[in-house]
Amino acid sequence: MAITREELFKQMELDEAIRNDGVYIRPEVLESLDFEHTTQEQVRACFDMNHEIYKKTKLPAAIRLSSNYRIQVSYKEKAPYSISYENGSFLLYKGNVLLDEITFVEKPAYYNKVTSDGTRMSTVAQEVGKTKITVAYSNECALKDKGLDCKFCNINATKANFAEHEGLKWKTPEQIAETVEAAYAEGYRRITITGGFIPERREVEYYIDVAEAIQERTGLEDFGGAACVGAPADLDVIDKYKEAGYSAISSNMEIWDANIFKTICPGKEEICGGRQNWINALKHEVEVFGKGNVRSYFVAGIEPKSTLLEGIEYLASLGVVAIPLQWLPNPGSELEGHRAPKTEWYNDLYIKTYNILRHNGLTHLDYYNSTNAENSVFDYLYDADGDILPWERHNADSIKFAS
Ligand code: SF4
Repeated sequence: MAITREELFKQMELDEAIRNDGVYIRPEVLESLDFEHTTQEQVRACFDMNHEIYKKTKLPAAIRLSSNYRIQVSYKEKAPYSISYENGSFLLYKGNVLLDEITFVEKPAYYNKVTSDGTRMSTVAQEVGKTKITVAYSNECALKDKGLDCKFCNINATKANFAEHEGLKWKTPEQIAETVEAAYAEGYRRITITGGFIPERREVEYYIDVAEAIQERTGLEDFGGAACVGAPADLDVIDKYKEAGYSAISSNMEIWDANIFKTICPGKEEICGGRQNWINALKHEVEVFGKGNVRSYFVAGIEPKSTLLEGIEYLASLGVVAIPLQWLPNPGSELEGHRAPKTEWYNDLYIKTYNILRHNGLTHLDYYNSTNAENSVFDYLYDADGDILPWERHNADSIKFAS
């Protein structure tokens, strides 16, 4: 079903509202889903992105509207949105008003495979979209031990709640390489390696070992790898990621305003040489990896929109793909129980950010290459303007736009 640009904006609002307010999935829906073979389940490998802790059954990772617009599931029992199962169809409601018939995002085949040491590959790498996967090599952050973890982050709480429940552990380079080989054989072709801070900031050695293991197993010198790293004290370390074979890099500033950065990200301030060093790191990353191959995420909704857009504009002018992500005050974070801004606030921010990216020459391909996202609001905005990635034209799950 082709949609118009106006309909896209309405679906963006729905996406935002569903994530902001949560969605209740009725028990009969969960009972009818075949998580073993067809429906992709959530794996809380890094952050639990639901509104509340839910462990009774598996939860679906994402839904698709009838237009193919993909929306991540953020479960909440007392939510205004709900999904029911009626006469063989899954229906999305707001209150009693039927909004759309939906489907659930499919499970990749590699999710049911195991590595040579018996680890389920679904716990090693998670699907991000039809061509991308992500690995959280460590499912904890050492900043917590120092009382310096980011106030919006629930990585350590997620580990406490779900690591044993879902069989999640640190990943070895060999487990990652075997999983990448299986996923790439299925059509995936990009991987982000991320994770919480590890003691003594030894990430670079680990990332090099991972790159070598993937190259050896897949035979790919350029394996489509993006390294998500904290700003190093010695900026020359950044060159080592490039030498190891990563083609993109990211350092997530999270907050632009200098004072709010100190308060919300005390560890990123104290352990990583301060906020200015994050900016210096991003500048150096652009020198090493090139414009459009560097990304910084921001947790949007904690600081004023004006300072956030100032930061996005500044970084985009340097060639950094600077992207605001919706803040979900999730369970176990210091900010649990807070409220994120309204849906309209986010949509305005996304459209302004998209215009800044385009104004600074950052294309859909740059967005694709540098972010840990696919089928996101920014992908859809690029698509609507005709900047469609070549393979998207043939994907059955792409949105088609009415001309
Ligand atoms: S650096 Fe901050 S956002 Fe990243 S894992 Fe640690 S506490 Fe979470």
